[in-house]
Amino acid sequence: MSVLGLGRMGSALACALVKKGYDVTVWNRSADKQTPAGARRAGDLDEAFEADVVVTCLATYEVQRPLLSKNIKALVNLTSGTPEEARVTAEWARDNGVEYVDGVIMAVPQQIGTPGARIFFAGNEEHHVLDAFGEPVYVGQDAGLAALYDLGLLGVMWATFAGYLQAVALTGTEGVTPQQLTPMVADWLRELAEMLPEMGEETQHRDYETEVSALDINVSGLRMLAEASRRQGVDSALPQALHDLYQRAQQKGHGTHSIASVIEVIR
Ligand code: NDP
Repeated sequence: MSVLGLGRMGSALACALVKKGYDVTVWNRSADKQTPAGARRAGDLDEAFEADVVVTCLATYEVQRPLLSKNIKALVNLTSGTPEEARVTAEWARDNGVEYVDGVIMAVPQQIGTPGARIFFAGNEEHHVLDAFGEPVYVGQDAGLAALYDLGLLGVMWATFAGYLQAVALTGTEGVTPQQLTPMVADWLRELAEMLPEMGEETQHRDYETEVSALDINVSGLRMLAEASRRQGVDSALPQALHDLYQRAQQKGHGTHSIASVIEVIR
């Protein structure tokens, strides 16, 4: 087994393979990265390609592309990228007779090797190597699917974290501490998560009738959040962007509909 890339994640992957008893060879562009205990450093890429399986975990596909070779027998790609990049790599693998599994890691390096570390993977269903890293979740045959799920879920994460930080900054202007605020946000997020299945169904059936909360009231709430942020001396770019997005759905005639109708602007 070989691992290309000894960054934070690649090192964690190599360590997990060693722990599982694999014979592990590692390769990294720069010499300064430490060789994980129990692994062997390859003198060059060709030496790393002698392994039955090569796992790649590099910064981007762009830096990975020139390193790939048809001397690789089976490639397990765990470098993050776009669906298109994953599909192009799968095509390259097919054309060069290289077995290919495309995966994305939904965990931080410290979680690798624990059951909580989910690895979405697509294409080839053969995934025995991924077992060493955590919990493999097969998402389908199309090699671009793992990257698609990855970006979708990361989008939820980035939007949620930014919303939380906006709340910390806004309430912080009045002396509220993160310790006071955070338990409330955590409870709120649990409640919001329970609303997602219904919202998903609304987007599927394009039926946005609501007895709960109309878009009109939410647009006006977002206007208040943007205004309060400005008045309290906090950046208002995020609430303003959300206001403008929701308002576009309102202007399309969804004012009395549920928040799910914003999808009509997004897609
Ligand atoms: P790091 O920045 O820690 O490591 C980047 C790796 O890419 C290093 O091995 C680096 O080598 C290599 N690299 C960068 N540029 C080049 C180049 N031009 N040629 C050859 N090698 C190069 O990143 P991570 O380990 O954190 O991330 C690696 C992948 O894992 C990314 O795709 C990331 O999205 C994904 N990932 C990371 C997570 C995390 O929490 N860290 C979570 C989920 C996915 P060198 O040492 O020579 O610079």
